[in-house]
Amino acid sequence: MGEFDLIARHFTRPVRRAVLGVGDDCALLAPTPGHQLAVSTDTLNEGRHFLSTVAPEALGHKCLAVNLSDLAACGATPRAFTLALSMPRVDEAFLDGFARGLLALADRHDCELVGGDTTAGPLAITVTVIGEVPAGQALLRSGAQPGDELWVSGTLGDARLALEVFRGRVPTADLGVVEAFDQVRRAMEWPEPRVALGQALRGLASAAIDVSDGLLGDLGHVLARSGVGACVEADRLPCSAVLRAQPDERRRELGLAGGDDYELLFTAPPGAAEAVRSAALAVSVPVTRIGRIESMPGRRVVDRDGRVLDRPWPGFDHFAPGSDR
Ligand code: ADP
Ligand code: MG
Repeated sequence: MGEFDLIARHFTRPVRRAVLGVGDDCALLAPTPGHQLAVSTDTLNEGRHFLSTVAPEALGHKCLAVNLSDLAACGATPRAFTLALSMPRVDEAFLDGFARGLLALADRHDCELVGGDTTAGPLAITVTVIGEVPAGQALLRSGAQPGDELWVSGTLGDARLALEVFRGRVPTADLGVVEAFDQVRRAMEWPEPRVALGQALRGLASAAIDVSDGLLGDLGHVLARSGVGACVEADRLPCSAVLRAQPDERRRELGLAGGDDYELLFTAPPGAAEAVRSAALAVSVPVTRIGRIESMPGRRVVDRDGRVLDRPWPGFDHFAPGSDR
């Protein structure tokens, strides 16, 4: 099957709200009046962002999920996306599964595939998402104020725990029952972007970011952009029953610095706490207060007794010396 048959078969569907989809030189979209476009791109490279053994369907899901997570962090509504796919050869079984996982998530968020590029090369996937947000209402990293409370959605650390098991650094036996591994593996392979929560937080959160590189690393971006500091209570980090059963040190490290969580980390004034809780309840996503924004720059991590934990916990940086992910 050639390039164009492949595109027609797997990645071309009737347009819905777009003016023009796959098949011309450009896709055409009609923005909603009074809205701004929110645009974001993320690439997944084999061996670096996913294991070569991952199911194609999970890979299709995840490459869009990580992009929708960026729209969620801005409080934007997904509209459309493009897909740049590089792969070594045409593998029908791979393409079937990949497109199924990708388009199922796209349909759930009413986000149309409107174009892309298909090339031969090492397996790599780049998605660009386009969303919309009412003008001036996007959630930004830069709005955190001293006194604001720090919140996070869902749970943290499971995805990284699964990766550590795959890498042989944590024995499967440490997780106890076999279902425990299935659960953390699901967190790693099938992250659920918090799109509805992001939209619900518009007008409530003072700043937001999605947690992709580890909580502390991503918090650092909010602090830098906002010109503030923060205190994080390590033992308040929400975690699954699987992670709760791990030793304190491992649980804290995975929660604080694991990465690949795709939860929303956000700040809000204390007076908005009740409104934040009801907004989260309305979209059925748990949220937890994990600390506070302070005027003194830098971040402090404390344990349940208020003792400072001063481990390095680096955020993830692809080009940092010794970076292993
Ligand atoms: P051009 O060479 O003009 O960039 P291409 O031959 O690359 O066009 O692509 C033909 C059409 O198919 C374009 O509309 C492009 O957006 C679309 N397309 C290519 N690859 C993909 C893909 N993986 N998913 C969706 N649309 C694609
Ligand atoms: Mg092209």
